[in-house]
Amino acid sequence: MTPTIKLNTGYDMPIVGFGLWKVNNDTCADQVYEAIKAGYRLFDGACGKQLSHPLSFLSLERKENLTSSPNFTDYGNEVEAGQGVARAIKEGIVKREELFIVSKLWNSFHDGERVEPICRKQLADWGVDYFDLYIVHFPVALKYVDPAVRYPPGWSYADDDKIVHSTASIQETWSAMETLVDQKLARSIGVSNFSAQLLMDLLRYARVRPATLQIEHHPYLTQPRLVKYATQHGLAVTAYSSFGPLSFLELQVPNAENCPPLFEHDVVKAVAEKHGKTPAQVLLRWATQRGIAVIPKSNNPTRLAQNLDVVGFELEQAEIDSISALDRGLRFNDPVGYGMDVPIF
Ligand code: NAD
Repeated sequence: MTPTIKLNTGYDMPIVGFGLWKVNNDTCADQVYEAIKAGYRLFDGACGKQLSHPLSFLSLERKENLTSSPNFTDYGNEVEAGQGVARAIKEGIVKREELFIVSKLWNSFHDGERVEPICRKQLADWGVDYFDLYIVHFPVALKYVDPAVRYPPGWSYADDDKIVHSTASIQETWSAMETLVDQKLARSIGVSNFSAQLLMDLLRYARVRPATLQIEHHPYLTQPRLVKYATQHGLAVTAYSSFGPLSFLELQVPNAENCPPLFEHDVVKAVAEKHGKTPAQVLLRWATQRGIAVIPKSNNPTRLAQNLDVVGFELEQAEIDSISALDRGLRFNDPVGYGMDVPIF
């Protein structure tokens, strides 16, 4: 069984989960089902089904400049993920209460009155009646887009690539998030892509404290001050994009293309060889050994198992330090890098 982190709500969150970003609709149900069979219990999803707007999170300019056509979608797979879950439950492989299902509030639904309806829609997509964790995806409030018109809405308000903000403050959004807990639609609520400053502000008024902070975290972007601040204030930290640039090559994010792959880095390779593990496992263990949860994704059965098997070995402190020393403040998941004029980082 995967070890867990005790959240400030009393619930246990598996320290390794399965990320659903860029998992295609046609394979998603099977991948989730196979992941459950392989032992995964946490699934990290976000804003639902997308068919007609692939790469809606990229600006028109970035899309036009892509040199090849990506073969994945931007989440948009909560219905299929739910089908995978339903099949596993039906076959008795797992019970709902043994799973930890995470979803996220997209930017277009930050207005207080939009939070509950979209959460209910996402629950219906998954086919479950509560989320274990529901998190604010970005500290960015965009103008509401009716899901009947376009879903998921992506960053731009219409097809013209323009960002249109809403006036909702984070306090307004958070108050609505708190009512999800009151109504038992979410057991825990959290945030993602928040800075320490935003956390400081949120913690002043939060009636229900955020349980987790999900951030980009890998050896090229370690963010030690933010991690320390969050954990000191009782938030569990979840790392996304644990393999650094790898996930962003297919998006043709320029600084990912010009950066040495972590799997081939001498420091990472040396530690992996010493422990008889793969570089991927070392990168995941580097996080989990410091109490940081990880949510890698793979559709390869060997890698699926490998990624889950990250707590069976211990790195030495000097090895952890040598990997942490690779930090160069290099962020890949930046809206500005996708061509959006949203300089949150
Ligand atoms: P990832 O860390 O899952 O890396 C994915 C890439 O690594 C894929 O190309 C995969 O094939 C490869 N891979 C996986 N396991 C491997 C192994 N053992 N050996 C070799 N290659 C391997 O990156 P990600 O998808 O960017 O992040 C993980 C999850 O984090 C996402 O699926 C999503 O759920 C979440 N996420 C959240 C945000 C956010 O804004 N909150 C942003 C990005 C990602």
